[in-house]
Amino acid sequence: MAAAVLDQLNSADASLLDSERPAEAARQNLIGLSLTELTRWVVDHGEKAFRARQLYRWIHQRGEAEFDAMTDLALSLRALLNERAMLGTSPVTLDHTSQDGTRKWLLDVGQGNAVEMVFIPETNRGTLCISTQAGCAVNCRFCSTGKQGFARNLSAAEVIGQLWHARRALVGPSAGINLNVDRAITNVVFMGMGEPLQNYTATLAALRVMLDDDAYGLSRRRVTVSTSGVVPMMDRLREDCPTALAVSLHAPTDELRDELVPLNRKYPLRELMAACQRYLERSPRDFITFEYCMLDGVNDSDLQARQLVELVREVPCKFNLIPFNPFPGSGLKKSSRERISAFAQILIDAGIVTTVRKTRGDDIDAACGQLAGEVQDRTRLAERQPVLAPIRLVGRI
Ligand code: SAH
Ligand code: SF4
Repeated sequence: MAAAVLDQLNSADASLLDSERPAEAARQNLIGLSLTELTRWVVDHGEKAFRARQLYRWIHQRGEAEFDAMTDLALSLRALLNERAMLGTSPVTLDHTSQDGTRKWLLDVGQGNAVEMVFIPETNRGTLCISTQAGCAVNCRFCSTGKQGFARNLSAAEVIGQLWHARRALVGPSAGINLNVDRAITNVVFMGMGEPLQNYTATLAALRVMLDDDAYGLSRRRVTVSTSGVVPMMDRLREDCPTALAVSLHAPTDELRDELVPLNRKYPLRELMAACQRYLERSPRDFITFEYCMLDGVNDSDLQARQLVELVREVPCKFNLIPFNPFPGSGLKKSSRERISAFAQILIDAGIVTTVRKTRGDDIDAACGQLAGEVQDRTRLAERQPVLAPIRLVGRI
């Protein structure tokens, strides 16, 4: 992960002569480093190893941005940090709070790319929804991120920097971890832009910092990785750092899922269900959350609900039905409220806990899964697919 940050810095610097190199570029961004990497950096710079933990706590537990404010670090170390290190996060270009308290930030990640993050306060918890890529290569049929094409992976610093920034914005720097429960981040979901398991290195690095008691100390059960079903990486996550897992299902048959989630052609439903079962052997939760975007006349019939019950028979799970969040040119419509209720009831009658996602932050366009509508279409995907072809109706009754 440090390698990713360094790679980025190195490649950004490659075209510059030493005399032209801005001072910033020579500095190491410490935000995305694990404690082990930070320790290596500190030792490499002639300091005692234990200083790294102090520094790490200042950065993440206390959200401090200024090295000079880290009062228990020796003055010489603070001077070194000012000269050779920095705490760099992506600039915020937009910060909006909706009437229901949902807050959305748009972050500039360079070269015309932006990603979003959203904070959703609820009575007993606060959930931060973060992004892992600018755009997404999976190109799901109903997803505006997918329609923008894939620009690039975010670095570990850019992913963890989202939590660092949001926490400072919500509870203030040096606030400690348990203050102001109303505004505290208790949960993180990887449900913003991008497919986290197609940016595995940065996702794993960020997860480790989030879970670390010396940093954010979040519980594994309260950090949810959401995936469109990258089967081999689900197995890797299960080994490396199992957290709660959400799988974006959206269809009960391969025929329909091939169209809605193109990755299904590579990892079809039978393999996906088997991967879910394997994941559960190590998961901190004893169920998988299946997300299911409700598309009018496409995947919302009674028959399809019954097919779903069959499909997931061997997988302890909950369902989260997400009313489709429309965007221009999608050619798709949201299922009616009655249809969603009838669909949910079939799952509930089969003993599956099912919730319908409330739409939050509507007035600021901040519902998860419908982010960054304003962002550039980097790969001109929309131009290449000007009008989306109608989806064949499968299994309608
Ligand atoms: N790439 C990951 C995580 C990001 S998307 C994934 O696909 O799981 C988070 C959730 O929002 C996914 O379940 C996704 O399918 C859903 N989603 C995407 N676009 C949506 C839309 N327009 N309306 C409703 N849900 C959407
Ligand atoms: Fe990518 Fe997820 Fe959108 Fe599919 S739903 S295109 S995987 S961000």
